[in-house]
Amino acid sequence: MELSDIQRKKIAVIGGGLVGSLNACFLAKRNFQVDVYEAREDLRVAKFARGRSINLALSYRGRQALHAIGLEDQIVAQGIPMRARMIHSLSGKKSAVPYGTKSQYILSISRENLNKELLTAVEKYPNAKVHFGHRLLKCNPEEGRITVLGSDKVPKDATYDLIVGCDGAYSTVRTHLMKKPRFDYSQQYIPHGYMELTIPPKNGDYAMEPNYLHIWPRNTFMMIALPNMNKSFTCTLFMPFEEFEKLLSSSDVLNFFQKYFPDSIPLIGEQALVQDFFLLPAQPMISVKCSSFHIKSHCVLMGDAAHAIVPFFGQGMNAGFEDCLVFDELMDKFNNDLSVCLPEYSRLRIPDDHAISDLSMYNYIEMRAHVNSRWFIFQKTMERFLHAIMPSTFIPLYTMVAFSRIRYHEAVLRWHWQKKVINKGLFFFGTLIAIGSTYLLMCSMSLRPLHYVRRPWDWLTYFQKTTCFPANSMESLKEIPSVISR
Ligand SMILES: Cc1cc2nc3c(=O)[nH]c(=O)nc-3n(C[C@H](O)[C@H](O)[C@H](O)COP(=O)(O)OP(=O)(O)OC[C@H]3O[C@@H](n4cnc5c(N)ncnc54)[C@H](O)[C@@H]3O)c2cc1C
Repeated sequence: MELSDIQRKKIAVIGGGLVGSLNACFLAKRNFQVDVYEAREDLRVAKFARGRSINLALSYRGRQALHAIGLEDQIVAQGIPMRARMIHSLSGKKSAVPYGTKSQYILSISRENLNKELLTAVEKYPNAKVHFGHRLLKCNPEEGRITVLGSDKVPKDATYDLIVGCDGAYSTVRTHLMKKPRFDYSQQYIPHGYMELTIPPKNGDYAMEPNYLHIWPRNTFMMIALPNMNKSFTCTLFMPFEEFEKLLSSSDVLNFFQKYFPDSIPLIGEQALVQDFFLLPAQPMISVKCSSFHIKSHCVLMGDAAHAIVPFFGQGMNAGFEDCLVFDELMDKFNNDLSVCLPEYSRLRIPDDHAISDLSMYNYIEMRAHVNSRWFIFQKTMERFLHAIMPSTFIPLYTMVAFSRIRYHEAVLRWHWQKKVINKGLFFFGTLIAIGSTYLLMCSMSLRPLHYVRRPWDWLTYFQKTTCFPANSMESLKEIPSVISR
C-alpha cells in the first residue's frame, strides 16, 4: 500500500487502557490517522487519577512490544526486577524459588504509570488523537461505523476504515460481534475475588526483600506482594467470595490474618489492614474466550476485549501487548493490507490466546496449592538442571511463557511432551535404581552374585530344596557347592 493511501486511512481504537494506547502507537507509527476513544477522563490529570493502583508483572513478550515502539528502556527503568518467588510458609519460614536463570527476571510495574507513559507516547504522534471522556455506545463492525458519547452528552456518529476493540473484559465492541453468525463466546467467573492491601516502607526502605514476588500460598486462597518504586509493596489477597463474606468485623479480619498470614500483620500494620480491608469490596475475576477476533476487514479485537484471562500467570497485559506486536508484524508482512492481516491475525492469535487462558487457570491452582509442596520445589530444581544441560531441548514452562516468544499453544504442547519425557526418564532411573539395589543386596549375600544371574537354574534348584533365599552369603555358599564349583 502506498504511503498516501495509508495516510488516508482512518482507524478508531476503542479504549485507551494499556492495550489500546500501545496499539494506537503502533498504528500511528505506520502513518494511519488514529482516533482513540476512552470512556474515562485523562488519568494524567491529578483530579482524575484513580486511587490505589495495582502493579503488574511485565515479562518478555510485553517488553518486546514496548521495544518495537521505542519505549522499552523508559518503562524498564521504572520497574523492579523480580528474580524469584519468595514462598512464605505458615510458620514464617521463607524460601526462594527462582523463575529462571540468574539473568532472567520479570518486572513489577505500576499499571497507572505505564498507562500514563503510553498515552503520552500516543499524543506525540501528530496523526493520533485521544478523545478522553468519550464512550462507545454502539458500532456496526461490518461497515466501520461507531456512535460515541462525549461530555456534551450528544451521541456522535463516525465512520472508520478499521475499528480496533481494546475496550477490556466487558467490551462493547465484542457485544456487537456477538450478534454476528458463527461468533463463539464463553465466559467464566471463578469463585475467587481479589482485594488489594499495602505494605508501607519501613524506616524508608522496603519492609521485605524487594526483588521477589512474595507468595503466601494457603491452598484454597493465597496472598501475593509485588514491590513498588516508592519502597512499598502492593499485596493482593485472592480468596473465595464466600470466605471474604465471613469477615465482617475488624476482629474477624485480624483473627483471620493471625491464623493464616501472621508474618504479614506487623508489615501491613493492624490499623491499616482493617482500614484497607473494608475500603473496597473484593473484585471478581472473569475469563472470556471468543472466536473469531475479527469481522471482515473493518473490525478486530485485542487485549482483554478478545481474551480476558485470570491473572495467575501474570500474562493478561503481556498477551495483549503481544497481540499488538503480532498484528504489527503481519502489517509489515502483508504491506498494510487489512483484508489479509485481519483473518491472519485471528488464525494466529486464537490458539495462542486460548492456550494462555487455559494455562492461567492451571496456574490458579499451582500458585496457591502446589508451590507449598516439596515435589514442586524438586520439579523446579529438576527443570532448571535439565534446562542448564540441554538448553534448547528442555525449556521449563515458565521460561517459555515469561522469557521467550515461543507461541503460547506451542509452549503448552512442548510442556506436555517434556512432562512425558521426564516421567519416562524418572521411571527408567527408578527401574535402574531398583535393579542396582537388588544387585547390591545380592552382593551382600554372596561373593559372586553374577553366578546366580548367569545360572538361574541353580537358583531354582536351591530354591526348590530350601524354599528360601540363603540368609548369609558365606554359609549359603557352602550349602550350594554346585554353584561355587562352577
Ligand atoms: C488483579 C489483577 C492482576 C493482574 N496482573 C497482571 C500481571 O501481573 N501481568 C499482566 O500481564 N497482566 C495482569 N493482569 C491483566 C491486565 O490487567 C489486563 O490484561 C490488561 O489491563 C488488559 O488491558 P486492556 O487495555 O485490554 O483492557 P483494560 O485495561 O481493561 O482497558 C480497557 C479500557 O477501555 C475503556 N473502555 C471500556 N469500555 C469503553 C467504551 N465503551 N468506550 C470507550 N472506552 C471504553 C476503559 O475505560 C479502559 O481504559 C492483571 C489483572 C488483574 C485483575
